[in-house]
Amino acid sequence: MKILAGVIVGFVMLVAIVWLTKTWSAANKSKPFTNSEKAYQTGLSSLWPIAKAYWNTQRQAPAPVNAVPLMTLTQDILSQTHDDAIYRLGHSTILMRLDGEYVLIDPVFSERASPVQWAGPKRFHESPISIADLPAIKAVIISHDHYDHLDKAAIEQLADKVQHFITPLKVGEYLTAWGVDPIQVTELEWWQSVELNGLTIIATPAQHFSGRGLLDRDQTLWASWVIQGLQHKIFYSGDSGYFGGFKDIGERYGPFDVSMIETGAYNELWSDIHMLPEQSLQAHIDVNAKVMIPVHNGTFDLALHDWFEPFERINKLAKQHHVTLATPKFGQAVMLANPQANELWWRDIMINPATDDVEQQDNVRKMDELNEVVTDHKIAYVGNSFT
Ligand SMILES: [Zn+2]
Ligand SMILES: [Zn+2]
Repeated sequence: MKILAGVIVGFVMLVAIVWLTKTWSAANKSKPFTNSEKAYQTGLSSLWPIAKAYWNTQRQAPAPVNAVPLMTLTQDILSQTHDDAIYRLGHSTILMRLDGEYVLIDPVFSERASPVQWAGPKRFHESPISIADLPAIKAVIISHDHYDHLDKAAIEQLADKVQHFITPLKVGEYLTAWGVDPIQVTELEWWQSVELNGLTIIATPAQHFSGRGLLDRDQTLWASWVIQGLQHKIFYSGDSGYFGGFKDIGERYGPFDVSMIETGAYNELWSDIHMLPEQSLQAHIDVNAKVMIPVHNGTFDLALHDWFEPFERINKLAKQHHVTLATPKFGQAVMLANPQANELWWRDIMINPATDDVEQQDNVRKMDELNEVVTDHKIAYVGNSFT
């Protein structure tokens, strides 16, 4: 009964905060950025079902119990080849070598994807390389301002080893506030591009939203990205719901050697701004790419599905639709001349909760403990507010 009263009080407070925020925002903020097809509203009618889903869902495996296999990277290992390659470092953090230059996407190295480091989604694994060990970076690309993509501590540490920071409109203001020299920062509107000695970076549309607090909803732009070197062309979806923009991007800039498409943190309740795996696969087909690397998974628990579910679902779908998938371990090279690293690494650390095995039951118990911690954190993140 006490719990129910707490939930009701919490919900009433949430309603008050949403109402006050909207009122304050309307009075004080500049015109928000918008999507091209679907407006994403987080009114009461959408928050209540999401709150209920978080309350009612029994989690089995929100996070891996066993260590996530990593392939440690160093500058020595990276310099063993100069060929174009992609290395997943975590979630949507991607290191890429094109024509001998390094590009880093959505660098998140902090322990938690959160406004604070004492609460919020905690990473499942370390980065396979530290910021200190990274080689000199030609360009950092940021997709949008959510905490699982824009990490203040990482930006502060990267400022000295990065030549250019490329962001959607207004996101660059965070970077300069955190100490990056404004001369290093280029902000782009959708379809605008920048050329850096043979490397072309184009901001393309995405269907998402932005904000790092309660009062800054959609005050900065979000984007997907085309990254074109002399030999290879890559598409990165950023965070996005499924929309017609993917076909437009394919027609204007396809075919791509590789697509890196968000495949994780999805739910029917917020599918306007995060794709279900079936939609991720369709986005890959729409942009006209040869090989798909599913990203936005494997590092943080940001939704209600099991941590490994995105890998399992996209792997099955790719087989059904004859799509070539690359699911490298974190730190493992996907060579662009032959981008096939379809490792089923997550299967080695998947847990079957229905087993009689004593060791596995012990793991389930640990998962329950983890689950409690994660559930606590989730209260602050209801509505998928910051991902
Ligand atoms: Zn995200
Ligand atoms: Zn996001």
